[in-house]
Formats: sequence, structure tokens, C-alpha cells
Amino acid sequence: MKKYKLVSREYHAADTVVDVAGVKIGGGSLAVMAGPCAVESHAQLMEAARAVSQAGAKFLRGGAFKPRTSPYDFQGLAGKGLKMLREAGDAYGLKVVTEAVDASFIPLVSQYADVLQIGARNMQNFQLLKAAGRVDMPVLLKRGLASTIEEWLNAAEYIASEGNSRIIMCERGIRTYETFTRNTLDLSAVAAIKELSHLPVIVDPSHGTGRWEMVRPMASAAIAAGADGLIIEVHPNPAEALSDGPQSLTPKNFTRLMHEVRLMAKARKAFLEDEGGWI
Ligand code: PEP
Ligand code: MN
Repeated sequence: MKKYKLVSREYHAADTVVDVAGVKIGGGSLAVMAGPCAVESHAQLMEAARAVSQAGAKFLRGGAFKPRTSPYDFQGLAGKGLKMLREAGDAYGLKVVTEAVDASFIPLVSQYADVLQIGARNMQNFQLLKAAGRVDMPVLLKRGLASTIEEWLNAAEYIASEGNSRIIMCERGIRTYETFTRNTLDLSAVAAIKELSHLPVIVDPSHGTGRWEMVRPMASAAIAAGADGLIIEVHPNPAEALSDGPQSLTPKNFTRLMHEVRLMAKARKAFLEDEGGWI
């Protein structure tokens, strides 16, 4: 048996479907989470929520606590941001996904969010992982910036070992020698996770590339590779964004992405249904 026993395919052969208050992640559905990198204001968030729900996303993403490289950069609206996320999510029928950067924030985040996000920088914060394993809510576990697939699965095991098996894996790019893109999006991780684990896996082409022009083609490729969904940064006005503007889509470009990705998901479904005939 693998060290990461509970999350392994060996231990549990069937695909896990994570139910987020009635919206399913895994098992053939296309789960799209979208919204700004950071919650900046009431107006910005409401506009983003309206746009992403209209385009067909079922989840609103947005950071209230931002893990920024520089302490002088915008750190997020904290509790005020969480309240705005809940309000915008409820106004447009979207489930809320947001990050807790420290175990001590989990009780607060769990009051407002539907999915608890663990960020790349925290993938090996074992106290945070264990605390996430003790709450009754699904966890979105991002891959660390320089983590192997095995380390990432072991991080998921920390959550599962505390009793929470509602885990969604998220590939968000890794550090390589390439500088054209912010990270190198490792789409092979999707196939690897599908082989090694029963957990659903989604892809973040926004942080994975750092360039908005590359987000739509990589989103499409992720679905073709078998991902169960996507997390995409969308801002009403990317040029004015307080964080990650260069990788954020306008509502119009996000609508285009959704159109392409839906077609890709349909093609993949048709292929899987047909597959019997080819073998
Ligand atoms: C985010 O999704 O806002 C984020 C900070 O992503 P990551 O942890 O993957 O860098
Ligand atoms: Mn971001």
C-alpha cells in the first residue's frame, strides 16, 4: 500500500464525487470556479459574481486573506471580504471558495465559505492541513510551487487522516527554469492524479500561466486531459486589479472560455460513452 493510503486509488477504486451543498465536483460534471484574485470592494465583487454566474460558473472564488510575496502589497479585506463573498454568492446562487492562510482562520472562514482553499504556499503547512481535516467542509488543496505529485498526495492524506475525505486537488503550475510564464502548468499531473488517486482534480490556468491570453487554451487543454473542473481569475477591470491583473480575464473573455470549455467537455463525454465500441 502507498503511504498516502486513504486518498489512493488502490484503497478506493471508484472516483470520489465531492458534493458542495448540492453542486458536484467529479463524476463527469464540469465544475467551474471563477472570480477575482482578491475581494477588493463590494461593487467589484458583485460585478464579478454577476458576470461569472451569467457565463455558467457555479462557484465564486475570491481571496479575503491574500498570501502576497511582498508585505507591502494588498493583503486582502479579511473579515469584511468574507462577508462580501457570502453576500455575492447568495445573490447569484454561487458556492463560495476562499483561502484560509492559517489554521486559526478556519473557524471564521467556515462561517462564510462553502469550500476551504489551501494555497500553494501552504501545501506543507501540516498544522493547517490537520485543522482542515477536522472541519465539516470540502477542501480545495492546491499543489505547492515546487511539490512533487507524491508530496501533494501526502498533503491530501494529512487532511483525510483527520477524518475529512471531501478533498479536491488543484494543479496550479510549478516552478521551472521557464520565465515567459509565471509557472509551468503541469497538465500531466491531471492524468497522474487520476491514476494514483480517487479524488477529483481541477486546474488553475490563471496562476499556472500568469498570462490572460494563455488561460483559455490551457483551460481547454485541462478539460481535454480529464480535469473535473477549473478555477479561473476574472475581474471586471483587470487593468485596475489590486492583484494578479495580468492573468485575470475580462467577463467577456471568461464567457468565451466557458463556451469553448463546454464544447470540450461535451466532446470528452461523447468519447468516453463511445469508448466501448473501440475496444
Ligand atoms: C489564489 O488562488 O488566489 C492563490 C493565491 O493561488 P496559489 O495558492 O495557487 O498561488
Ligand atoms: Mn491570484
